Amino acid sequence: TPGVRPLIAGNWKMHGLRDDGLALARAVAGGAGAAKGAELLVCPPATLVREVAAALEGGAVAVGGQDCHAAAKGAHTGDVSAPMLRDAGARFVILGHSERRADHGEGDAAVLAKAEASMAAGLVPIVCVGESEAERLAGEAEAVVTRQLDGSLPDGFAGAGGVVAYEPVWAIGTGRTPTESDIAAIHAAIRAKLRARFGEAGGTLRILYGGSVKPANAKAILALENVDGALVGGASLVAADFLAIAAAA
Ligand code: PEP
Repeated sequence: TPGVRPLIAGNWKMHGLRDDGLALARAVAGGAGAAKGAELLVCPPATLVREVAAALEGGAVAVGGQDCHAAAKGAHTGDVSAPMLRDAGARFVILGHSERRADHGEGDAAVLAKAEASMAAGLVPIVCVGESEAERLAGEAEAVVTRQLDGSLPDGFAGAGGVVAYEPVWAIGTGRTPTESDIAAIHAAIRAKLRARFGEAGGTLRILYGGSVKPANAKAILALENVDGALVGGASLVAADFLAIAAAA
């Protein structure tokens, strides 16, 4: 999107002990100059957010969480709140990832509440949407994504510079991607939705593509209209691959 700085976000998922995580973060920061215009973000497991943020402080690579609770604090054993992530040095948080939706039964209403909590804590939410393979085959991809956006984006989303990530569930970790025209079609539908909901501001919110983005396919995907960056899983665990994707943006 013209005038929009692409965001290349790495979702480390449940990978990374301290030494490996810090080494990966430092390797990404060390090569960040190759990313040219793109903004870089790494989202380590919660245990590493503070140390990775400290290691990257003052540099070009931002840090984010992978989820947060909808409450700021309370009796929620095992959960991490948005103010805690912010306090640890995070600036972004991924919300509604399909693995959260599948493993923890998160629906759109839960994602909406988390997005509100994240914004209240000063974090930028990255709200993930995307259809299953059955929904894609039934011709329902656009309807599913539109419904998810309706249900999970809070009113203040545009003001907070919120990010939408389109991640077809069947493309995550599988090595499969939609065709370029299918990606462009969904991104256009998301853009239309953002404009309808947020007006002019919706025209410049970032829409990321995620699902088996690799150095080999990054350039073609990132060149598509309304693709303003990528959410990268597997390839974000190898600094050279993550940086090659960023260089393609
Ligand atoms: C993800 O989990 O957000 C993702 C896109 O994973 P991968 O790149 O491994 O498909």
